[in-house]
Amino acid sequence: MATSINGWPVLSPTSSQLVNRRVPGTNRYLRLRADVAPLLLALAAEYHRKIRSIDTGTYDDWGYAYRQANAADAWSDHSSGTAMDLNATGEGAMGSNNYNWWLYNERYKIAKALKAKYGVVIWGGATALGGDYRYARNWDWMHWAIRPGVTLSQVKAQIAKLGIRPDGTVALPPTVTTPVVDLSRLQTAAKVDPTKPKGHKSYAAGTTLVEKALVKEKFLLPGSVDGSYTSATVNAYSKWQKKLGYTGKDANGIPGKVSLTALGKKHGFKVVN
Ligand SMILES: [Zn+2]
Repeated sequence: MATSINGWPVLSPTSSQLVNRRVPGTNRYLRLRADVAPLLLALAAEYHRKIRSIDTGTYDDWGYAYRQANAADAWSDHSSGTAMDLNATGEGAMGSNNYNWWLYNERYKIAKALKAKYGVVIWGGATALGGDYRYARNWDWMHWAIRPGVTLSQVKAQIAKLGIRPDGTVALPPTVTTPVVDLSRLQTAAKVDPTKPKGHKSYAAGTTLVEKALVKEKFLLPGSVDGSYTSATVNAYSKWQKKLGYTGKDANGIPGKVSLTALGKKHGFKVVN
């Protein structure tokens, strides 16, 4: 079976392994090998956002093509559906003065960063600017392809690592919400819980957060984290207040706004009320 320069099997134009997919965020489509498509589509989408729009002007963005490489007696990586050309007539190889276009404002650094992030790809730019082609006669600034020697399982692992969906979009990381402790509820718990039978929890969620912070401060034993503001919690909180410089009644183990805010700032919770 014929393979393209990067070692992937050449696909016939009617191959069921080829898909025609839209680059996310654009109105351009690329025909690519299905199992590498998510990676190249995500890369193209990021190129579009960070380097230059790919869907304005001439339709000069291509994926699969059943042809031999221009410069070599071999099958182009486009013939295996593992390569794409972006903005061919702009900053790509069919534009003019590409080297300086990429040099200007250090644009090449974005391409270099994309290459590093997507990992298993080559970029046809000059090696001096972070690309993969050393000699000017080979420079192919529009060209991105799966790196020679990279296997399908490596591509799949990279797709999984980057969280890329089949359509080339990327799931946003879950937003981390900072937990909140309500000061007045915590003060009530600090006063009420010690007077009730063991294990009483006036405000379990907030008390637990504070107890965990006090454990990190080494004022409370891990086994005492139970959501009940016991006398052990009072004692531990008093030590925290003393650490902040409070004395006497101000270090009685009942949280105040300033001491609790300081504890939250250090251990990852916000204080309200
Ligand atoms: Zn190309």
